[in-house]
Amino acid sequence: MPAFPATECADCGELYGFPVVACRACGSESFEAHDVDGSGTVYARTTIRVPGADHQGQEPFEVCVVDLAADIRITARILDNPGLSPGDSVQFVEARDGVFFFEAA
Ligand SMILES: [Zn+2]
Repeated sequence: MPAFPATECADCGELYGFPVVACRACGSESFEAHDVDGSGTVYARTTIRVPGADHQGQEPFEVCVVDLAADIRITARILDNPGLSPGDSVQFVEARDGVFFFEAA
C-alpha cells in the first residue's frame, strides 16, 4: 500500500499533509519529505457537481476530508466515487497534479 507523502518540520517534527511556508507549531521554515502510513478514515464528505476550472468535465466526484493514521487531516478525491460515510476506511493511492487520490479500503 502506498505511503502518503507528508511534510515534516525539520525542527520540531510537526507533520503536514499540504504545502506549508512556516511551521504553525514552532515557526520554522525548514521542512523535509516524510512518508507516513497511507491509511485513513473519512471525517466528512461531499459530492462536487460544479467544479473549479481545473476539474471541469470530471464532475460529479467525491471529495472527502480524511484523517490519516499519522494524525494529519487532508482533503482528498476518492476514486470510483463510492458512497462513503464518516468513519469509513480509505487508503492513499497517488498524488496527481497536487490532488491526493484515495480509494475505499
Ligand atoms: Zn516546527
